[in-house]
Amino acid sequence: MSQFIFITGGVISGLGKGVAAASIGALLESMGHKISFIKLDPYLNVDPGTMNPFQHGEVFVTQDGIETDLDLGHYERFTNAIIKKINNVTAGKLYSQLLEKERNGEFLGKTIQTIPHLTNEIKESIYTASKNSEITIVEIGGTIGDIEGLPFIEAIRQIGLENENCVFIHLTYVPYIKFAQELKTKPTQHSVKALLSLGIHPQILICRSEQELPVEIKKKIALFTNVKESDVVSAPDLEIVYELPLLFEKQMFHKSLEKFLNLKTKPNLEKWQKIIGTLKTLKNTIKIAIVGKYTDLKDSYKSIHEALIHAQISNNAKINIDWINAEDLTQENVKEKLKNSHGILIPGGFGLRAVEGKILATQFARENKIPFLGICLGMQVAVIEFTRNVLNFKNANSTEFDSKTEHPIIKILQEQKDIKIKGATMRLGNQTCKIQKGTKAFEIYKNENILERHRHRYEVNPEYVKLLERNGLKISGIYEKENLTEIIELENHPFFVASQFHPEFKSKLFEPHPLFVEFVKASEMIKGTNF
Ligand code: GLN
Repeated sequence: MSQFIFITGGVISGLGKGVAAASIGALLESMGHKISFIKLDPYLNVDPGTMNPFQHGEVFVTQDGIETDLDLGHYERFTNAIIKKINNVTAGKLYSQLLEKERNGEFLGKTIQTIPHLTNEIKESIYTASKNSEITIVEIGGTIGDIEGLPFIEAIRQIGLENENCVFIHLTYVPYIKFAQELKTKPTQHSVKALLSLGIHPQILICRSEQELPVEIKKKIALFTNVKESDVVSAPDLEIVYELPLLFEKQMFHKSLEKFLNLKTKPNLEKWQKIIGTLKTLKNTIKIAIVGKYTDLKDSYKSIHEALIHAQISNNAKINIDWINAEDLTQENVKEKLKNSHGILIPGGFGLRAVEGKILATQFARENKIPFLGICLGMQVAVIEFTRNVLNFKNANSTEFDSKTEHPIIKILQEQKDIKIKGATMRLGNQTCKIQKGTKAFEIYKNENILERHRHRYEVNPEYVKLLERNGLKISGIYEKENLTEIIELENHPFFVASQFHPEFKSKLFEPHPLFVEFVKASEMIKGTNF
């Protein structure tokens, strides 16, 4: 039977509960424990797949093809836990499951109620996710006080009652009020009170703040919330989030956990120490431009951001990301905006808005031999640009943006043609890709057969492939079964590679993704040549 760690959030959202949960996972793994995660999201969408990234940040895709919350990405990047369908549950998914059971007559004669029926569904999903692990970390999305969160809090309260080894952790915010020059503990006190009113007394508090909390503030919080001072843990803003497990260890977080859980030995975070040491002393600064549409909310490209951080390590390169809104790019200003970039990355995306700007940035990278990495829409954009400017088919386009285009160089996947439902119907998750020997892609992957995660509806139009190849666009990776283009690249360019899949979802702190590593390496070399 698994032991349970429940993490709730207080005061405000966006404090980094997911990073905290992931760091606790890393700490426990370093003690030799097998852990698993489940993120419970109280919103009514069945999954975040149809949400605008501006609403909710990036949609993270699991290997089994589920569109999930971005926190699941933190779990995979920090730990060895494998995240699948069972590890992210939303209220919407649970309600639809429940209503389906009701229609099937599973509750004949009964009144279906939030308690016990919905809470039972929640508990069931937590128990399912905990099956093969020693410790299950359960993160509840949202903030205490949210109406839709109530059944989730009730469900974890009940699990706490049913199981010996459980610990409730509440993550709160301790703001520094400049005007009063004071750290304020009142929001934390109120938040704990709200949790108490729901029957849960948190045993550990993680307090988010700008700086590390002074002892007297920890004391004050402990006194007013009835939590032991040693169990009030400080989590200040960090430039490198991967430092959090070390900070937890420094504060003897594991000792706090030990009071409530059966734990093995001591943590051993040597490899974390080493890698953080490297990250803090990176030498060569390079500038990578990310040319996208959701650049105002960095969380929209979370996994790409992290994959670049991971790629810094083996290259000893410190990356400064220049977030460029593709909508601002014009023929006139593209040179000015991109001329100092050592690498240009075009991320995934949907819809017409900002596409022309991305095409301009791609052309600039191709013509000026600036390392280029295109991801999903980024690959499609690269193919459109090549068709327009090298094949000279000036109005080539994707049918996603112009359904009547004369040259539909990107078109809807065969399998997607008749699909009307929008949720969870894209080509999703792990798909195989065969890499051609003798290509850059093969040099990068050193393997002919790879598995990468997907999330798309459109593909390079197979009718144009021969023509593209004859004109110098190399198709270096394909999905063999249906002959879909998976990777493209250009010769006579230091690094011009784009993929239909999303390599960023597989990059981890201790396993940086080779495509990102090589892209960063090429960008660093360009800097060296003072292009
Ligand atoms: N909109 C494109 C498609 O559906 C690209 C998707 C993406 O970038 N994730 O194929």
